[in-house]
Amino acid sequence: MEQHEIDDMMSNLQDYLERQNINTSRFFRCLNPHHIDSNASMKYFDDCRVYCFGCGCSYDLVGVIGAVEGLDRREAFKKAKEYYYSNFHKTPKLTEKPTKEVSHIKEQKNYEKAYYIWQQNYKNNYEAKKYLKQRGISENIAKRFGIGFNEFNFGDFSFKSVVIPISEHCFSARNISNQDELRYYKPRGSRVEMFNMEALTNNKPYCVITEGEFDCLSFETIGLNSMALSSANNVSKFTKESIPKDKVFILALDNDEAGNIAKESLAKFFDSENIKYGVFDNCGFKDANKALVEDKKQFENSIYKLIEQFDIKLKKLNEVEM
Ligand SMILES: [Zn+2]
Repeated sequence: MEQHEIDDMMSNLQDYLERQNINTSRFFRCLNPHHIDSNASMKYFDDCRVYCFGCGCSYDLVGVIGAVEGLDRREAFKKAKEYYYSNFHKTPKLTEKPTKEVSHIKEQKNYEKAYYIWQQNYKNNYEAKKYLKQRGISENIAKRFGIGFNEFNFGDFSFKSVVIPISEHCFSARNISNQDELRYYKPRGSRVEMFNMEALTNNKPYCVITEGEFDCLSFETIGLNSMALSSANNVSKFTKESIPKDKVFILALDNDEAGNIAKESLAKFFDSENIKYGVFDNCGFKDANKALVEDKKQFENSIYKLIEQFDIKLKKLNEVEM
């Protein structure tokens, strides 16, 4: 089978679900046999996958057939072929053969509905709120950035996490338990996306550049305009954006090897573009979030002082109690 034939076959998920008397416009009981779903937590999405908001599992057509009919992936694939591929051949549709480009475009998953549910979860979750408070992030900022809570399940391992939406297609989930090995999780593709890109284009005269999302939220918590590269490897991606020449940039990357290399290449870039920038050392701490948690006063005073050296007047944020 060619890729476009497989894609065609996979696009029959909605049909298969409807044949199981599942209404795909509503939530239904999770199909994962290991998840005893007392609510209806699963939903069909237009990217031809189902997604469970309870256990976090996600299936395509073959996965659903496997779950419903108790088959392994190979057998389920055979079934899918039987149901939809042979039919496809009996009644060939008069569609143009997809061009190479079309067949290479992978539909990205849209998490907007999930964010809404995770945000509702967050509102009533004491553990998640406590975690954010420990990391020094204010409730106002949590609300502004649409932070949510979800428990992800990867078969034999699950973790409770605070979810930071990065775009409709990707998010960063931080494990809120300190015991587990897996500290954070991002869906495939997310690693390359940068966080809070509005900070680059809004009318603020400066922008603080950080590495991690939590560092960005740390600056936002003390009232400063900030974005995150999401990874120290994203410098070249950043420099390909249209960077406003009249903004002052403050480099506040991690104090480690990767952070220092990124800092240097960003400095080189800003020099070559004649863009003003300053370097913030996070008060000697590992990263901005650590500085906020360990000594908020010093963190706030030092970064404000640095930005004001560029003739930028900052209004101190009235402390919002969390
Ligand atoms: Zn489930």
